[in-house]
Amino acid sequence: MNHVVVVGAGLAGVRTVEALRARGFGGRITLIGQERHRPYDRPPLSKAVLLGNADNSFVDTDLAALDVDFWAGVSAKSLRKGVVETTEGELGYDGLVIATGAEPIMLPGDGPQHVLRTLDDAHELRAMLVPGARVAIIGAGWIGAEVATAARRAGCEVTVIEAGSAPLATAVGTEIGARTERWYDGIDLRLDTMVDSVDEGGVRLVGGEFVDAHVVVTGIGVRPAVEWLAGADVDLHNGVVTDEHLRASLPDTVAVGDCAAWWSRRWQTRLRVEHWDTAINAPEVAAATLMGEEAVYDPVPYFWSEQFGHMLQYAGHHPAGERLLYRGDLDGKWSAVWLTAGDTLAAVLAVDRPRDLVQGRKIIDAGHRLDTERLVDPDVPLRDC
Ligand code: FAD
Repeated sequence: MNHVVVVGAGLAGVRTVEALRARGFGGRITLIGQERHRPYDRPPLSKAVLLGNADNSFVDTDLAALDVDFWAGVSAKSLRKGVVETTEGELGYDGLVIATGAEPIMLPGDGPQHVLRTLDDAHELRAMLVPGARVAIIGAGWIGAEVATAARRAGCEVTVIEAGSAPLATAVGTEIGARTERWYDGIDLRLDTMVDSVDEGGVRLVGGEFVDAHVVVTGIGVRPAVEWLAGADVDLHNGVVTDEHLRASLPDTVAVGDCAAWWSRRWQTRLRVEHWDTAINAPEVAAATLMGEEAVYDPVPYFWSEQFGHMLQYAGHHPAGERLLYRGDLDGKWSAVWLTAGDTLAAVLAVDRPRDLVQGRKIIDAGHRLDTERLVDPDVPLRDC
């Protein structure tokens, strides 16, 4: 392998470059990134950057020292075996990394609609979160909740419009989501509410009601950024389909990060995880696979969210759970744990209980049974259950 092309200069892309070099790949590497910025982390965009505590979140990496040819502001347009067509012309490769991440889903309508995916989005939105501004946030998922946190802190009048019956319902289910409703104090939270369109001056709801807003933020989810692969001979299904080695169906090609739907040995299903931990850790396996080494990506997925003064941390795969139990008091720090039919741990969501997360992730990995009576006692460490 002489020339590796990495498409997508986000965290997964740059970490794959680092992993290739760390494994001794001495050939040419070209990193293609649609954005004009050098690689940066996205989690701080909806936290420190939006709150005004940081201006950027650039990844601490030295592209020159890595001897990578970085094509900033260049998009891949299509792919055929051995050639990526870009907005700057064709580029041949003999190893390909697909790391194009995900892009926000927009709603119909002609009104201005903000999303929060890029550093530029964060700066634009931050400038609009001023005291008294009426801000309508569509979607009470992870991004919606974090934007609502920043908007409320900035003194805005905030309305959150959610199609489900509770915040975070899509992510972790209505029952757990309902436990977070109390955090929306001072916010006009509209549940079971569908948006028809985003229009000039606000949001039109299904049924006709109009919610006035100076700023509309759409946070209803993302889709894998794989449109550029539409005509390519590579399997796509909810992202780039890969095996457990992160190998795509096209020869000499791996996919990694938000755009990759990999086969999980652990859960015996295909997973596509749109979270930071995957973007930072999967590249090791992707680089090894590309270099012909044997490596398997099979993590206990992990992510976190900071909202309304709370730290939420999740590990596991709750669709594998059959029973939901709680540790701790709803008014204080609590965790939700999903148990399988055999009383092993499928997933844990820890709210301000970081030890539950750390111990829970290890227990999921080990796969041992838990004593459910001890489990519901928040004073018993999870590792002793
Ligand atoms: P991306 O970061 O999306 O990078 C892909 C890059 O590829 C982008 O720069 C894109 O412009 C580029 N690209 C796309 N198409 C092309 C093309 N055709 N040609 C060239 N370049 C292209 N996760 C957590 O676990 N916890 C959090 O608290 C958290 N907070 C988040 C907050 C925000 C605001 C956002 C947006 C995400 C957050 N995440 C969080 C998710 C996490 O940031 C993502 O999982 C991670 O960024 C994925 O990295 P990636 O490199 O796969 O994709």
